[in-house]
Amino acid sequence: MNNDAIQLRSVSRVYGSGDSAVTALDQVSLFFPKGTFTAVMGPSGSGKSTLLQCAAGLDRPTSGSVTVGGTELTKLSETKLTLLRRDRIGFVFQAFNLLPSLTAEQNVSLPLRLAGRRPSRTRVREVLGQVGLAERAKHRPTEMSGGQQQRVAIARALITSPEVLFGDEPTGALDSTTSREVLTMLRSMVDREGQTIIMVTHDPVAASYADRVVFLADGRVNGELTGARAEDIAAHMTKLEAAPC
Ligand code: ADP
Repeated sequence: MNNDAIQLRSVSRVYGSGDSAVTALDQVSLFFPKGTFTAVMGPSGSGKSTLLQCAAGLDRPTSGSVTVGGTELTKLSETKLTLLRRDRIGFVFQAFNLLPSLTAEQNVSLPLRLAGRRPSRTRVREVLGQVGLAERAKHRPTEMSGGQQQRVAIARALITSPEVLFGDEPTGALDSTTSREVLTMLRSMVDREGQTIIMVTHDPVAASYADRVVFLADGRVNGELTGARAEDIAAHMTKLEAAPC
């Protein structure tokens, strides 16, 4: 039994072919231990989205291997990959993507309904409680603040008890106070429930909530910081952005 929620070994992703080929990821190897919070940063075009998509089974690497909890993704059929994503992986995006006509609890139970399972009211209330919204179960998105809507989206991602929660700029649409609330909540999920989180962000303050920050540049890992302060993360980013391509 290894202790990694996700392992990437020599993962490359090339878009297109011939003269127009773009190497978005170039032999990236990264391990994400269970119960840890990792932020992924890097200049625009450095491969962050591609990394997230390959790690989450939304895209297939051109070469290399990706394992989620010991399951090798590159060997799975499309159907098995879809099931793995549905049952073992959670996603939170910058846009909350809640259905406006549904209440918080209906939005949260949607992934289970779509999977043909009957959501238990206790479980729905439990995840809403985890994000501090037990009292808002009957509210619709328009009756909630941006931060509350993002917390509903996080509860929806947690309803299947995913092994890994992926965030793609989850605080990108929030003001700094609300963003801190959401990040504190993500942090406590890691500390209290042992959740594994991998989050792409542009924001050094958001990244400072993570245990580890992995930096990408030109599709390669370009340094890591552990337990870093926002200032140190910002300084590393400035260096990467100033580097000639
Ligand atoms: P980031 O998320 O850090 O901005 P991306 O992973 O989106 O970086 O992109 C990495 C590189 O791959 C960029 O050069 C981008 O233009 C290229 N790229 C991303 N998606 C595609 C695609 N579907 N087709 C062709 N090139 C792509």
